[in-house]
Amino acid sequence: MVNYKDLGLVNTREMFAKAIDGGYAIPAFNFNNMEQLQAIIKACAETKSPVILQVSSGARKYANQTLLRYMAEGAVEYAKELGWEHPQICLHLDHGDTFELCKSCVDFGFSSVMIDGSSLPYEENIALTKKVVEYAHQYDVTVEAELGVLAGVEDDVVAEESHYTKPEEVIDFATRTGCDSLAISIGTSHGAYKFKPEQCTRDPQTGKLVPPPLAFDVLEEVEKRLPGFPIVLHGSSSVPQEYVDIINTHGGNLPDAVGIPEDQLRKAAKSAVCKINIDSDSRLAFTAAVRKVLAEKPGEFDPRKYCGPARDEMVKLYKHKIIEVLGSDGKAE
Ligand SMILES: [Zn+2]
Repeated sequence: MVNYKDLGLVNTREMFAKAIDGGYAIPAFNFNNMEQLQAIIKACAETKSPVILQVSSGARKYANQTLLRYMAEGAVEYAKELGWEHPQICLHLDHGDTFELCKSCVDFGFSSVMIDGSSLPYEENIALTKKVVEYAHQYDVTVEAELGVLAGVEDDVVAEESHYTKPEEVIDFATRTGCDSLAISIGTSHGAYKFKPEQCTRDPQTGKLVPPPLAFDVLEEVEKRLPGFPIVLHGSSSVPQEYVDIINTHGGNLPDAVGIPEDQLRKAAKSAVCKINIDSDSRLAFTAAVRKVLAEKPGEFDPRKYCGPARDEMVKLYKHKIIEVLGSDGKAE
């Protein structure tokens, strides 16, 4: 048993309370490798932003869970070395799908876990979430649950269609499960292809796809029923066109990739939404930088020469999100 407090990590409780009061959102960035983690910590240290480091089950398989835990511990020390006096870093399991997985993360030093029972029938989602909450709360680990289904692909999570969260269920769900935060479905989606072209309109000037707006009416109904309760948005990458263009002009092929416009996320961050998940954008930044180096310098074979620029590009992206979209800069001095 490893307690996250001994690793210098924090849970989400205080982060979320402050974010709701302050009208901003905490960034939840996924990481799978050292360069990504370095970029996240550097961006957060330079902007003094609290942060949630997310580990998906795919990341656990890719990088090894023991190594990831030590990396998160190292991240706290690295943050201090960068001059961030009181780093607020949460280590969070993204899309836990079983009690056993959540328990093992709690036991291995995670400060927060998500149990995603959103694909289960309502009562089964409640029973599973409640079981995880009861275990996690013994160790002061916070629990995110999900109601409603997001479309898209994320590691092992695949859904063809989205189903908006039903606002009439949220009070019953939150009360009976005791969860600390709730991921809802209001039209965000996992991956770099959030919408099919037929769901979008086309900008007559640029020919680019314009996605349908988020269902802010559903969010407002949820907020009305659960005032002050932390709400989470998954699948909130904006799929920056400049990265898609760099990838496509340097040998890649990402036709019609489309994300959530940043003005919509800015609006959400000011509401009860206090955690916004961003993963695909960092993958795109990384890939764009790597493709550019390899296309321009075909003789390059030192991974540091293309992972280094990829890391710099991710730092830029994360800082942009923190300062220009989420508003979490300066909130963890
Ligand atoms: Zn997700």
